[in-house]
Amino acid sequence: MSLALDLDHASAIRPERRGKTPLVGLSRADMAQALAAAGIAEREARMRVSQLWNWLYHNGVTDFDRMSNIGKGTKQVLADHFSIDRPEIVTEQVSVDGTRKWLFRFRDPANPLLPPVEVETVYIPESDRGTLCVSSQVGCTLTCSFCHTGTQRLVRNLSAGEILGQVLMARERLGDFPGGTRPADGGLVPSGETRAITNIVMMGMGEPLYNYDNVKKALLIASDEAGISLSKRRITLSTSGVVPQIGPTGSEIGVMLAISLHAVRDDLRDILVPINKKWPLRELLQACRDYPGLSNARRITFEYVMLRDINDSDADARELVRLLAGIPAKINLIPFNPWPGSNYECATSARIEKFADIVNRAGYASPVRTPRGRDIFAACGQLKSESERLSKKDREALGAA
Ligand code: SAH
Ligand code: SF4
Repeated sequence: MSLALDLDHASAIRPERRGKTPLVGLSRADMAQALAAAGIAEREARMRVSQLWNWLYHNGVTDFDRMSNIGKGTKQVLADHFSIDRPEIVTEQVSVDGTRKWLFRFRDPANPLLPPVEVETVYIPESDRGTLCVSSQVGCTLTCSFCHTGTQRLVRNLSAGEILGQVLMARERLGDFPGGTRPADGGLVPSGETRAITNIVMMGMGEPLYNYDNVKKALLIASDEAGISLSKRRITLSTSGVVPQIGPTGSEIGVMLAISLHAVRDDLRDILVPINKKWPLRELLQACRDYPGLSNARRITFEYVMLRDINDSDADARELVRLLAGIPAKINLIPFNPWPGSNYECATSARIEKFADIVNRAGYASPVRTPRGRDIFAACGQLKSESERLSKKDREALGAA
């Protein structure tokens, strides 16, 4: 990507958007501090923070002018210093099975000269729940050999605001805000629920535990009653096995944990999930045993992608059950989703059934994940965007770290 092109792009950024602090994603304390720094009286700040949270997360407002309980002068101060922009929608696709996928575009407010980045977010409606699959990074530093995202170099981490921005934008498109419009195909709100999005999974692009601080901030707001207000039991974070961050995920964020296991022997897992070379199975499973808050009511989900003739034998199934003995666990068998250039095949249905049977007999319930949205490349492991990392020289020339 040439520097000239990037500067062209920079000149397209509206000047009034430059250098404003995004409010979405700030904790109460950080927001209060930011307001004070902008000249809003400290004694007012707490009240303003509550009002702002309510407008941003409950009402889904994207314009300071609509904040009717905030006076004109304060609104102007807010508009001068802060941004409540959402990502731009580049594309929105709907699968034959109702799954929706968005390609969102973000500009980096701290470095407005950098080109924008793009990530994918997926909504999966089911009869009893509606799950939003959220991205944590643009690309991924890891290179799991069966994953499409793994072929895209890490471009950058998403900020807490960008992680929440995906949720806010999806809520808007699905009509989840008060007074919102539901999509014409209807039927998106699961029975007994009031919102289309009932669950969040950090299973989109990227390794959430390599962007721990931002993911933590975002999920604490997602689960805050005054924020997006989803129960922590309805938020699941999936990791390929960043062992040192697993404990803090339980104690500081307190959401449900999923582990991308995919192999029961280190030699094979080293190839499929190369982070295994750093933190092998023994250490990973010990971190799972020690996961804060783990109980039979709060089990860890182990994800296992079914790859033909690679990890799908009866012996693998038996070893899986043996490895997980003593850990309150659910097992999620994921049929491999192919992508252009992938070198694996999905295990046969007969094989998956036999494997599932062994796992079921050991006491683990309903484990096969139905592939959703394959026709729009929205299924597990198929996400990717065109965003590329700039060269060091170009980044320096643009004044970015
Ligand atoms: N980076 C995190 C979050 C991504 S979650 C992680 O790896 O856990 C996406 C899930 O889909 C992971 O379990 C991942 O291993 C799995 N996956 C990746 N590529 C896949 C593919 N082609 N088919 C099926 N599942 C895949
Ligand atoms: Fe990254 Fe997860 Fe894909 Fe591995 S499976 S490359 S950790 S997104």
